[in-house]
Amino acid sequence: MQRSSVWSVASASRRSSILIIYTGGTIGMRIDQQTGALVPFDFGGIYEEFPALKYLSVDIDVHTMPKLIDSSNMQPSDWVAMAEVIRSNYERYDGFVVLHGTDTMSYSASALSFMLENLAKPVVFTGSQIPIGRLRTDGRENLITAIEIAGARRADGEPMVPEVSLLFHSCLYRGNRTHKMSAEELDAFSSPNFPALAEVGVKISYNEPLISSAKGVAEPLRVATMMNEGVAIIKLFPGIGEYTLRAILAVEGLRGVVLETYGAGNAPTSEWFLRLMRETVERGVVVMNVTQCDNGSVEMQLYETGLRLQAAGVLSGYDMTTEAAITKLMYVLGQNLTLEESVELMKMPIRGEFTLSALV
Ligand code: ASP
Repeated sequence: MQRSSVWSVASASRRSSILIIYTGGTIGMRIDQQTGALVPFDFGGIYEEFPALKYLSVDIDVHTMPKLIDSSNMQPSDWVAMAEVIRSNYERYDGFVVLHGTDTMSYSASALSFMLENLAKPVVFTGSQIPIGRLRTDGRENLITAIEIAGARRADGEPMVPEVSLLFHSCLYRGNRTHKMSAEELDAFSSPNFPALAEVGVKISYNEPLISSAKGVAEPLRVATMMNEGVAIIKLFPGIGEYTLRAILAVEGLRGVVLETYGAGNAPTSEWFLRLMRETVERGVVVMNVTQCDNGSVEMQLYETGLRLQAAGVLSGYDMTTEAAITKLMYVLGQNLTLEESVELMKMPIRGEFTLSALV
């Protein structure tokens, strides 16, 4: 097990100071010359490996998490650990780059967007499809661009992207709007219902009106460290059985469910199904409706099949991704709130995670 460490690899002319938080994943892999196996890369030697970084006028420090993981092993306790690193280094750095495996990067970016309350500095997640130690790696470009974005400022000196974002290939997205869409393509992430915050070409073109501003953030950073794990994602399919669904919803300690429905938020209108939904909501479980479609919004008023679900007390998740919906549930249900307060928070966009114009 590697020890947690922070060390400086500062460039000569300081403009912004960036902390890279290395959590594991493909981006950090290089080939061991002796065994030929993929082993974790030591980002402490970042300048030797990527001399081009010297041309970015940023100071870079690296924090390696104590245990480097394939992101398939990511747990809420790892999100808390990452958030704590950001909290304890918040005053020292202008921005943060989180190097993360791609498999659960959208979940982590969504979770951190909720957990980091009053965030006024950039937190840019990135990773790669090809290990950084391979010649054709996409990790090098992703890393360099993420560092540049984390250190970028607006004309008035404010950070350019003071929110949790995800940089991959040629796009910077709001983190809680993303979804890993490809296991193979280098352009592996999408933001199905929200435009890119920046497009990376010859220049990095920022879509400034869409990016959160740090100006309105009056309170100091607060990190929510309680994530409620009494949650489940249920994807509907034709033929889903009453006993199966009943068994899942009867699980002890269940507090929240993301229900992946069809189309614009539609579900079966069979008596048993709607009764089960009503009973679940009446038991105090928060049930969020998100669509299985690749894009678009839940609009439960459109069809009877959605209306009946709404009447049963199921909440609209509008155009939220499943990743954002489940991590928001964990965050909201982890606060010490009444059921009514939790429901109110779930109905409002609190970090730009769903689109207000989709509200009716
Ligand atoms: N399994 C890896 C991970 O998520 C895949 C990757 O990083 O691309 O950690």
